[in-house]
Amino acid sequence: MALIIQKYGGTSVGNPERIKNVARRVLATQQAGNKVVAVVSAMSGVTDSLIKLAKEVHPEPNEREMDVLLATGEQTTIALLAMALHGLGAKAVSLTGAQAGIVTDGLHTKAKIANITPKRVHEFLNNGNIVTIAGFQGETPDGQITTLGRGGSDLTAIAIAAAVKADLCQIYTDVDGVYTSDPRIVPNAKKLLEISYDEMLELAALGSKVMQARSVEFAKKFGVVFEVRSSFNDNPGTIVKEETAKMEDVVIRGVAVDKNQAKVTIAGVPDKPGIAAKVFKTIADANINIDVIVQNVSEKGFTDISFTVSSVEAGKATKVLQPVVKEIGAREVTSTADIAKLSMVGIGMRSHPGVAAKMFETLAANRVNIDMISTSEIKISVIIALKDADKAARAIHDAFELGK
Ligand code: ADP
Ligand code: ASP
Ligand code: MG
Repeated sequence: MALIIQKYGGTSVGNPERIKNVARRVLATQQAGNKVVAVVSAMSGVTDSLIKLAKEVHPEPNEREMDVLLATGEQTTIALLAMALHGLGAKAVSLTGAQAGIVTDGLHTKAKIANITPKRVHEFLNNGNIVTIAGFQGETPDGQITTLGRGGSDLTAIAIAAAVKADLCQIYTDVDGVYTSDPRIVPNAKKLLEISYDEMLELAALGSKVMQARSVEFAKKFGVVFEVRSSFNDNPGTIVKEETAKMEDVVIRGVAVDKNQAKVTIAGVPDKPGIAAKVFKTIADANINIDVIVQNVSEKGFTDISFTVSSVEAGKATKVLQPVVKEIGAREVTSTADIAKLSMVGIGMRSHPGVAAKMFETLAANRVNIDMISTSEIKISVIIALKDADKAARAIHDAFELGK
């Protein structure tokens, strides 16, 4: 008897029919002789509308209350899925993140999992139940409800799989697996049979929302092999694991597009030691993650500092920087969300020179202007205008023949 964790994302549980579809799949897995845990997301659109609702009552909602609110999305789905399973004659019980023993730190809206005590999960499974668990949420040691950051149900599934030592972890979504690029942007993107943790992690971190980046990090750390596949068919998906065959031979594994980025610019910054430190300490103290940073060449003792952040944090970033701008004698701080980050990822890039040159040539040939550049051993990212993002992704994907 195998222990199987299945995670179903928002679209897969997007309406009552789809919840019943998931119930049938989960029950079939149990009837094949397995113990099954189903981790579920909020129904599609629910988390977004809860955030919108919150902002209608307060422009900057309190983060503790935000978590209390957002956790209701997943709580709705676990109950509905358990009911749908009852309708099929199955034994099923739903558990919130806290009830499933998921303990987190107190960093509201992006809490980290501290530990998991899945005692109740095992008890219910041993009594023949299918257990439905709310993704994306946990509880602090002193009982505060927390959430794990957008896309956090992936993390719940992987963490539960590690905690219960599952034999199989399957991430069911609305595409057949991980593709060489987002198939909704690049129609000739190809499904990958397998991908390494490192490549999946980069793609996810660079905006391929098929997996939450933190969940891949967790899987790598605890060696959780998982499969990404569709809840709408029975096609085999993509296996994510440590090493893949001939990893070094594949130069580029995929192209990621991130449209949820904003660029913050501090203009007229006096070019003196200690200024950048002050700016970025302020950002770090506000718990805002920074991505690409550019400081322009100074002219007459003044320079511009630009950096990118997730667009939801742009407002917070400009707000916390206002007093710093005054203090350091800079001119102003502004932000724009009219940008996108386009990235190429591949372990083989380490040993193949010329990738960046070819990427830049392709962008130039397509009249796409590059605003900022950032590279690491296994990725190259450029910040470009939002309006150019899709066409640039298709051009790069073609130039590197990823659809072949
Ligand atoms: P879920 O609700 O199941 O968690 P998400 O919407 O979070 O699903 O993630 C699935 C989506 O990720 C797909 O619909 C697809 O548009 C997008 N996506 C982005 N990059 C990729 C990629 N490289 N491969 C597959 N899907 C991708
Ligand atoms: N419902 C949450 C979100 O939309 C978590 C998830 O779906 O994974 O981000
Ligand atoms: Mg998701």
